[in-house]
Amino acid sequence: VTLVQAQARVTHILYRYFVHRPDKPRSSQFPSLVGALRLSAKYFAQDLRERCLERLASDWPTTLRGWDARETEAIDGKGAYVPREYTTHPILLIELAKELGLIEFLPSAFYDLSRYGPSKIFLGTPALKGVLSQSADTGTDAPEIKSPQDDDPLQPVRLTNDMLARTLRGRERGQKFIHKFIITRILHRAASEDCLYRLEPTNGVASFPCYQSFYFIALNVLRAVGGIASGRDADPLFTLLQAVEMLSRMDFENGNEGDGGKCGLKMCGTCKADFEEDCHRARRAVWRELPRWFGLEDAIDGQWGKE
Ligand SMILES: [Zn+2]
Repeated sequence: VTLVQAQARVTHILYRYFVHRPDKPRSSQFPSLVGALRLSAKYFAQDLRERCLERLASDWPTTLRGWDARETEAIDGKGAYVPREYTTHPILLIELAKELGLIEFLPSAFYDLSRYGPSKIFLGTPALKGVLSQSADTGTDAPEIKSPQDDDPLQPVRLTNDMLARTLRGRERGQKFIHKFIITRILHRAASEDCLYRLEPTNGVASFPCYQSFYFIALNVLRAVGGIASGRDADPLFTLLQAVEMLSRMDFENGNEGDGGKCGLKMCGTCKADFEEDCHRARRAVWRELPRWFGLEDAIDGQWGKE
């Protein structure tokens, strides 16, 4: 067995033992992941580090596609959104990223955190004892691998004032973005040039069913009905996705007993296609903006959001 083979085998064993544990909820594996990352830094174990970073990237993606995959995964069998079952609290990740220089994961972590209400953001999260304070109690410089049983719920981890301000500013910018989109791109939206109803005015208004549908979507988004129900009312990416989903929903109340009191939007196909494309474009814009919203534009690679 060559030295290289031996190293690869050790990496594999460490990764399987400490990090890759399919039998446990992913969020509870975070302490082991932190320990493995520290080990890899101390002993220059590049393979181990890369495998750990790969794992972190699935929880804290650097691409919009990755984010959507993560969000889909965080919906349980009953349709409830349960992100903390799958990923650890973003404040813990932010602290780890600061310690180990894992800057690329910060935009999605800040975005995740900014979806909490301001008071929850301020209060922080229960600490995982020892995980974010390296070897403070051992008297040695050896990195420790802590288990989830070391959790100490009495010691919350809170953001520094700087990090708190970044989070709240980013939250505010996200809200402004979505507010502007609702007003200019939904409520006052022009019908498509090829709108099917352009030449069939209703009450003297061309494209009336489409304008009526835009208005209805705007009202629903402003009420943030689905967002509040699933704890994602300050989540521009989710809000835009919901707006798209409204195009195909058939469960809007219309009070008409004849068709079961339910209906879909009366918007024409061309206006629907235009609107859907606009929402997806806005989602890509939100993702591109994350580093700037959270004051990370100087630290994050210029390629962010270009995928
Ligand atoms: Zn139309």
